[in-house]
Amino acid sequence: MSSNNGFRQLFIGLDAMEWSLVERWAGEGKLPAFRRLIERGVRAKLDTTAAQLPDTVWACIYTGTNPGKFEKYFYVQYEPHTMGLRNVPDDAITRQPFWDYLSKAGLKVAVVDAPKFPLSKSLNGFQLTNWGAHATKTARTSYPRKLIEEIDARFGRHPVGDCDKFDAKPKSLRELRQRVLDGVRIHGEVFRSLMSEKPWDLFFAGFSAPHCIGHHFWHGVDGSHPRHGEDQDLETAMEDVYRALDREIGEMLSLVDTNTRVMIVAGHGMGPIFHASWNLPQMLDLWGYGSAPAGRAANGTNPATAKVNPWRILKMVMPGWFQYAIKGMLPQSAQDQLLFLWYRGGKKWEGCRAFAIPNNDSVGAIRISVKGRDRNGLVEPSDYETVCRDIANALRELTDKEGGRRLVKRVTITHEIFHGPFLDQLPDLTVLWDQSFAWETVYSPRFGNLHIKQQDSRTGGHSSHGFVLMSGPGIPAGQELSDCSIYDIAPTVLEAAKVPVPDDLDGRPLPISGLAASIA
Ligand SMILES: [Zn+2]
Ligand SMILES: [Zn+2]
Repeated sequence: MSSNNGFRQLFIGLDAMEWSLVERWAGEGKLPAFRRLIERGVRAKLDTTAAQLPDTVWACIYTGTNPGKFEKYFYVQYEPHTMGLRNVPDDAITRQPFWDYLSKAGLKVAVVDAPKFPLSKSLNGFQLTNWGAHATKTARTSYPRKLIEEIDARFGRHPVGDCDKFDAKPKSLRELRQRVLDGVRIHGEVFRSLMSEKPWDLFFAGFSAPHCIGHHFWHGVDGSHPRHGEDQDLETAMEDVYRALDREIGEMLSLVDTNTRVMIVAGHGMGPIFHASWNLPQMLDLWGYGSAPAGRAANGTNPATAKVNPWRILKMVMPGWFQYAIKGMLPQSAQDQLLFLWYRGGKKWEGCRAFAIPNNDSVGAIRISVKGRDRNGLVEPSDYETVCRDIANALRELTDKEGGRRLVKRVTITHEIFHGPFLDQLPDLTVLWDQSFAWETVYSPRFGNLHIKQQDSRTGGHSSHGFVLMSGPGIPAGQELSDCSIYDIAPTVLEAAKVPVPDDLDGRPLPISGLAASIA
């Protein structure tokens, strides 16, 4: 362990845990472990790619790079050379995570349930992946291979599985809440057992519970949500789970010695979900980017009703368990076709200058059909910037009614902020919607009013900030940092372990004096 400086690092990943709730409940004394961490260490809100590509946040954290540098931004991606869609599993990512660098430097690493990332091929240590992860499409597996069988035999399977199997009926939500709470406890037990039984210099422990509970129970915590008050018994579900997490984290912290530094990270958060991502195909048509000339939806006070993708309606009316039962009976190719129909509808992209492509629902994604880059491309490369800017402007003009509140918080032209070998497979534009209030009409000065229907059974969507808490020997107490990003996490872990930070990472170590100190 020549490169080690004597410190160990306990890294706790909290999938989609919302910082504003942690701050509020810690302040109210409901999360004593978090409160201690805030008082005794450094904290920072993190800028994150959740404002553009929410499903990339964990890969950005592990690799310290932007989404242009790895193969996957979403589980269903547009393919430029076929103008079609394809499934992209986590295993497609080849970029190295920070634990690989530590392992190669001779440090012992333990990685348990790091969300949305493949298993390392070899490690000085062990890894368990997707044992209890949220919404994974990739195999439960481990390194060494036998470890996951041992964990299953000792602890059983994680009680949640895919939380989207549960529908929005009270009985189903009650069961989901109980299972998420059981999942927090059993995750804690697994982490503590492995922390005590096996040697490690870095231990990564990922809790999936904040993600599952947030998507399904956001309306309970948000007094302004249209579904708030529906079932008072379930209103505290998020708080119950956050308190359970606080207890497990408190117990994990009581196991570590004085030479251990603790880092707690969330790459995105949770908030309400209101969006018009599913209506982008029609809006692009109305703006003249589809195969027909530009049109008008409706003017004055009579909004036109938005088109709906029948495959999506079908999915919405079928209970989750029923969808999974049907899916289980279909061969993979038929499952894929159904999934692609759900994202694309019957729409033909050939003949469109711009079209909507899959992304995490809370952020819309648009692709321009560029000659020489996309099959049957239509837009001359020299017109590409103009088209991007025109669509960005049209999006920024959207309001909930004429003269009303703006509906778009941020439009990103992706090549302006991302870079790397995989840039060309990303959407050209992303649209972060204003999700802070419920809206059902979209007004564009270019096409008038369009009445949309919110199409989500979930009530929580991702907020676009994350957070980090760091404490332990050499880390100052009660300090808040600003201007930090999820790209900074991997360089921070490496710097804190005195392992060289590769040149092509996009972040820098958090500006903490004493970060690179050694044990005297
Ligand atoms: Zn999510
Ligand atoms: Zn889940």
